[in-house]
Amino acid sequence: MESNTSLNEHEKVNILMVDDQPAKLLSYETILSELGENLIKAGSGREALGQLLKTDVALVLMDVSMPELDGFELAEIIRQHPRYQKTAVIFISAVHLTDLDRLKGYKHGAVDYISVPVIPELLRAKVSVFAELYRKTRQLERLNSELERRVAERTEELERRVTELARLNTALQSSNQELDAFTYIASHDLKEPLRNIANLGQFLLEDSALQLNEQSEDRVRSIQRLCQRLDGFLNALLEYSRIGRAEATQTRVNLDEVVQDSLELVAPPPQVVVHVQRPLGMVWGNDIQLTQVFANLVGNGLKYTDQATPRVEIGVQAAEQNGLLVYSVRDNGIGIAPEHQEAIFQIFKRLHPRDAFGGGRGVGLTIVKKIIERHGGRIWVESQPGAGTTFFFTLTSAPKEDQEK
Ligand code: ADP
Repeated sequence: MESNTSLNEHEKVNILMVDDQPAKLLSYETILSELGENLIKAGSGREALGQLLKTDVALVLMDVSMPELDGFELAEIIRQHPRYQKTAVIFISAVHLTDLDRLKGYKHGAVDYISVPVIPELLRAKVSVFAELYRKTRQLERLNSELERRVAERTEELERRVTELARLNTALQSSNQELDAFTYIASHDLKEPLRNIANLGQFLLEDSALQLNEQSEDRVRSIQRLCQRLDGFLNALLEYSRIGRAEATQTRVNLDEVVQDSLELVAPPPQVVVHVQRPLGMVWGNDIQLTQVFANLVGNGLKYTDQATPRVEIGVQAAEQNGLLVYSVRDNGIGIAPEHQEAIFQIFKRLHPRDAFGGGRGVGLTIVKKIIERHGGRIWVESQPGAGTTFFFTLTSAPKEDQEK
């Protein structure tokens, strides 16, 4: 059979007619010719078997009483072949069939009977039903195997992509680690010559023999200030790279305690209102890094404000996605314009002049983001200038059964 997958309504099927009397074969042929199917004639059971081996047959029409191999015997042989176990058989019987005979036929998997004299309309109707059934079954089988092929193809493609993704992920992880190691070494090694430059400046200032004029002294002091700033940047880089390098062990962490510790670090002045929704729950994480996260976010909330009574609220809610908790740190401060909301997570990015709002290096949020992502979470911000800011981030909740530990 061709492997055409479309539903071909008019595809002809093969009908094998078996009878030892050529005249009868001819009359069946005449009756069935208008169905437009392929009619194959066989004059004996043996010839029929020969045809069956050569062609794919939808229906066998056979005389029950034939010399040598009668219809029932032929049917039995046909049924033994796995390929023909479901092939429809119509028996034509000249003799009156007792119920016992019918039973014998059905045991062989026969599908229908027609008695002689054959009524042409009846024979045509029966044959046409079986031919149609065969055609539809075949079409269905083909569609099915086409579907299976497509599913297999897609699955293979999907597996290929998953493998590729895993490979890229590993490569990314190792290149991230390399970058962290490089940043650490570079910033560490740069600190020493920087210290030497600052020290040399100090020698120049203290060397009375040089008798520097005021302008030269100012310049040397400028060099020293720049060295100090640069040292600050290098420290920030060291701190940033340390998060990626450190083997931060993750345990079940009580966030009520973490937030308590971070508030002690920030030490908000008395006019500040800090509201914490308790309990904040248990998560998987590194308590030191998570303390750093809350200290940074609360610290920023109190720093970037023009309110007489700055307010910070820490809250939690269960995410729709299983096992995640969404934490929020909300303030009533100056807010962040939408166009800056991505940039604030970049290293050394500040939205204000160097010393405005108590100064800063623009590293805090970069570190917060890195810590959250290393915890498998995500961080984002919602804010409007003048309307305060809320930072949200996700963490993985620790399983309940362990919580009493
Ligand atoms: P730093 O505070 O040292 O400048 P951060 O990385 O913590 O560095 O923050 C980057 C910038 O994002 C800040 O300079 C500030 O402009 C802005 N920002 C951070 N948090 C807030 C906040 N809660 N409200 C308004 N602006 C903020």
